[in-house]
Amino acid sequence: MALGSVSKYTCPDCHGVLVEIKEGPLVRFRCHTGHAFSPASLMAEINAEIDNGLWEAIRSVEERILLMRQIATLQSEADRPDMALKFERQADDTEARLQLLRDLVLDPAFFGHSPSE
Ligand SMILES: [Zn+2]
Repeated sequence: MALGSVSKYTCPDCHGVLVEIKEGPLVRFRCHTGHAFSPASLMAEINAEIDNGLWEAIRSVEERILLMRQIATLQSEADRPDMALKFERQADDTEARLQLLRDLVLDPAFFGHSPSE
């Protein structure tokens, strides 16, 4: 810790505090465990975490839509068409919003690079 100042970033590997070490014009980040990153490699790790998190969120929302449709079917079978319609509409609405999340995760510009890279 004496070698640098505590940064606002956490280690992608162990989630410990990253210390920022300046060496002339260069900056490195290191945690107490010894994981070390350049600004570029830290960026790549953070992007990977965002990507994983977004895909995980998409999977959860897809499950929610499936469950809503199943509840709609159950309501329909129980002769409650109003409730069935309510859950069908919720599922449709959630599916439309999910597309925004899919578009975001598939947009290379969101991760700071162009499709050609
Ligand atoms: Zn670490």
